[in-house]
Amino acid sequence: MKIVVLPGDGIGPETMAVTVDVLEAVSRRFGLRLELDHDVTGHESLKRHGATVTQSLLQKVKAADGLMLGPTATYEFKDESKGEINPSKFFRKELDLYANIRPARTYPGLPNKVGAFDLVVVRENTEGFYADRNIASGGSEMLITKDVVVSLRRITRECCERIARSAFELAMTRGKHVSIVHKANVLRIGDGMFIDMCQAVAREFPEVRVDDFIVDAMMAHVVRAPERYDVIVTTNMFGDILSDLTAELSGSLGLGGSLNAGRDHAMGQAQHGSAPDIAGRDVANPFSLVLSAGQLLGWHGQRKGLPDFLRAAQAIEEATVAAIAAGDCTRDVGGKLGTAATGRAFVQRLLA
Ligand code: NAD
Repeated sequence: MKIVVLPGDGIGPETMAVTVDVLEAVSRRFGLRLELDHDVTGHESLKRHGATVTQSLLQKVKAADGLMLGPTATYEFKDESKGEINPSKFFRKELDLYANIRPARTYPGLPNKVGAFDLVVVRENTEGFYADRNIASGGSEMLITKDVVVSLRRITRECCERIARSAFELAMTRGKHVSIVHKANVLRIGDGMFIDMCQAVAREFPEVRVDDFIVDAMMAHVVRAPERYDVIVTTNMFGDILSDLTAELSGSLGLGGSLNAGRDHAMGQAQHGSAPDIAGRDVANPFSLVLSAGQLLGWHGQRKGLPDFLRAAQAIEEATVAAIAAGDCTRDVGGKLGTAATGRAFVQRLLA
């Protein structure tokens, strides 16, 4: 398996260094023969190539079997005409990575405020309120007068159907329960279509229990009783917000794994951003990116029918549970180690 590795900005290089060590360790232990191709994105790419991402990088990623993307300073990239392109948007759109799979679970030994739970947010990743990816070219956020902005939200039957299918297929491997999250009381047509398509797909999965919740109420429901949920399917922006909440409820945003998957490509990507407030201080939690790398290996293993990749994915999750229980982790999740030492302990545990 060939994986392109892009460390990104802020805490990206520190957390990606750990992730690379972990990938190399599981490659040795499970005989995966991973081939890692290191390149740059974000500020480093802007400096070297005049753009945060380039067409040649895209071609390289398309030819590879997977991509690991570190967090990037997207808020600082404001002008595409100057090469300041949001790398996350770029890859999600260009590779049609329509399903963003964001698991959140609690960990034995790590106190949390809500009790044990294990759920996955399945977020549509290519349209919705993300105006910057809704049309083929040009801007879909418009200054109508100097005081009026219109931002375009797009919802399509096709995207609703395929994200619903991802959610129901995932639910069949877990607790057979899908919760649809929407705002159909206000966005009647768009979210009405989203619910309709989820319900249509649900009919193909009669074993799966289905319910639905309005997004604002859902914020209260997951805080009150997250153990009631298994797979939560929702549109792009709602999923982005809800999944940061569920990651933090699990113990830390630094624990949120995130896989962006399409039909032919997948990208592991930390759920959090570049965290400039802690960058370069050896305190960032690397587990979000490490868990995302595990998800990428699992995706490849499932797609190609390769049990060793599935075992490697499982080993990464189990080592995370064990590391947290033993306190071999960063301070945000109750440990005393820095980022690099967390990585060394993790690799030792994997190879023990
Ligand atoms: P952030 O996710 O970077 O940080 C939010 C808070 O969580 C901060 O207090 C940070 O210190 C903490 N945090 C984040 N990751 C952590 C980790 N691994 N370990 C410990 N603590 C962690 O959000 P932000 O500060 O709003 O955004 C910073 C930059 O990241 C912005 O430019 C934003 O646009 C960008 N961003 C990028 C992505 C991405 O690349 N996928 C996602 C979100 C935000």
